[in-house]
Amino acid sequence: MTTWSAERIPLTVAPHPGEALDSWLERYAHRLRTHTVDFADFLGLSHASLRRMVRRLDPDEAGLLRARTGVETERLREMTLERFDGSLVRIAATNRRLTAPAHWRVYGTTSRYCPACLADDGGRWQLHWRLGWAFACTRHRLLLLERCPACGKHPPVASGGNHRMLPRPEACRALTDRTGRGARCGHALTEAPALRLVVGGAILAAQEQVNAAIIAEHRSPAALERGW
Ligand SMILES: [Zn+2]
Ligand SMILES: [Zn+2]
Repeated sequence: MTTWSAERIPLTVAPHPGEALDSWLERYAHRLRTHTVDFADFLGLSHASLRRMVRRLDPDEAGLLRARTGVETERLREMTLERFDGSLVRIAATNRRLTAPAHWRVYGTTSRYCPACLADDGGRWQLHWRLGWAFACTRHRLLLLERCPACGKHPPVASGGNHRMLPRPEACRALTDRTGRGARCGHALTEAPALRLVVGGAILAAQEQVNAAIIAEHRSPAALERGW
């Protein structure tokens, strides 16, 4: 954290270890009792998209976030996918779109999640859940979930759209037309049923192997070779 300055918001919301940037900004906005879109506007990021920022921060965005929140630039960058660019993901240079990775066949723009992690961590979303290689939570021994069991959508990490209702941190933020008013789903993702995995079983062993050999070592020649 930097020292206080006139630019800095007089209220700190520290990122959790491993948290994704958009999850942290969502939580920051919630703490300030405002909507994430309005919070981004307030920060001066009105034309920026959280969806792009969680992939890679441009220097202006990083400087602005550092000045306003006091979180150091290096810590901010750790909350983005930038370090995986060219190995586990590929981020287009100009518009930051995610495209097919150089060495890996799996990519996507949504995030899986562990309901028990969301419950334990106050609704904070881990960055690595976005990687196609994360499929199990080794902490809770659960299979990660893709969708919300109530609305069937991939739950967004941050609240987009124009609907200004403040979602609870653990709630599914997907916009739904069920009411005809563009309401959010609101289902408690912390209660979503997930498949419990057998200790010592093949799935947990595979995820531990992937964590060590691919995610942690994603630039090693051995990991890249395995990805082909
Ligand atoms: Zn978990
Ligand atoms: Zn939902």
